[in-house]
Amino acid sequence: MLATFAHEWPQKLLDELAQFGRYGLQFNQPLAPYTSFRIGGPAEMLLTLHRIENLINALDLLHRHRAPFLILGGGSNVLIRDEGVAGLVLLNQCREVRWPEGAPPLVRAESGAPLAQLARASLGRGLAGLEWAVSVPGTVGGAVVGNAGAHGQCTADSLRRIRLWRNGEVVEMAAHELAFDYRTSMLKRRLAGSSRPWVVLEALFQLQPDPTREAQKRAEAYIAHRRRTQPVNKSAGSIFKNPPGDYAGRLIEAAGLKGLTIGGACVSKKHANFIINLGDATAADVLALMTRIQEEVLRRFGVRLEPEIQII
Ligand SMILES: Cc1cc2nc3c(=O)[nH]c(=O)nc-3n(C[C@H](O)[C@H](O)[C@H](O)COP(=O)(O)OP(=O)(O)OC[C@H]3O[C@@H](n4cnc5c(N)ncnc54)[C@H](O)[C@@H]3O)c2cc1C
Repeated sequence: MLATFAHEWPQKLLDELAQFGRYGLQFNQPLAPYTSFRIGGPAEMLLTLHRIENLINALDLLHRHRAPFLILGGGSNVLIRDEGVAGLVLLNQCREVRWPEGAPPLVRAESGAPLAQLARASLGRGLAGLEWAVSVPGTVGGAVVGNAGAHGQCTADSLRRIRLWRNGEVVEMAAHELAFDYRTSMLKRRLAGSSRPWVVLEALFQLQPDPTREAQKRAEAYIAHRRRTQPVNKSAGSIFKNPPGDYAGRLIEAAGLKGLTIGGACVSKKHANFIINLGDATAADVLALMTRIQEEVLRRFGVRLEPEIQII
């Protein structure tokens, strides 16, 4: 679980921060619209960044004031509590993508770029390597932190380097330094409980030429598979991690929990590891449903399901 902590916010700091935001500094701003679940209370303060220099400047300023913050990308792997976030949320909308000339083919994407759009753009250029991500929501930064993956591939497979903001300095890190594992990285492990995270600024991916357009065909198959197997309702994707050697969805289904509803939150009938927002779900509904699922799966199968989403 992530937390932001009470902090003194001098007016001068707020005024300076406001200069970096696309819409200035917004107060008491609902966060639900910035999440794929469409759930969650307001941010005490929200700063939307769409230029990487502004993101770095804001981070440096926060660092100098030892001020805590939370960084949000596409909001597709989080559940924000109904109380909202006390403090500052940085919303990363830095989306520039560059395609350096030469071989091997590379793409350099700012961390707020939507991953699925990057995957589609790569395919459009006849390049393979990110096709697994054609329908994975969220940003490049979120994908790096959580080593997003699907269909047997993951972010770590094609990532070469990142540019990272870390305690007031910008550093380059090679992919192998990020200690990737199943849906995690050293950055994600650091996040737990931290109110001053390290921030992915940019990622460099290495792709492969795909003259026969096999990757495009794979992408189409992945999209069709998702349409068949996943709900289209508002959700945060898989709620629980797959336990070693098994699938969370299989266990939840076998426990007879498909369709179980608490308030506006429901275990999807299409994919049991998805909790869907029927329209008016609160974070409390989702948390109660998660607890029910964990208790039932533990009781029936002796397996402790761990949340895949981050509860903020
Ligand atoms: C319908 C659906 C399907 C999904 N399918 C998949 C799937 O197939 N595979 C998969 O892996 N995931 C899947 N997900 C989950 C989600 O798409 C991924 O976890 C995604 O990578 C999250 O990115 P984000 O930008 O939305 O991160 P957010 O939800 O915004 O943030 C997640 C965490 O990363 C941190 N963070 C975000 N950006 C940065 C940054 N630039 N620097 C440092 N920290 C940062 C945040 O503080 C937070 O702790 C799915 C989600 C949905 C809703």
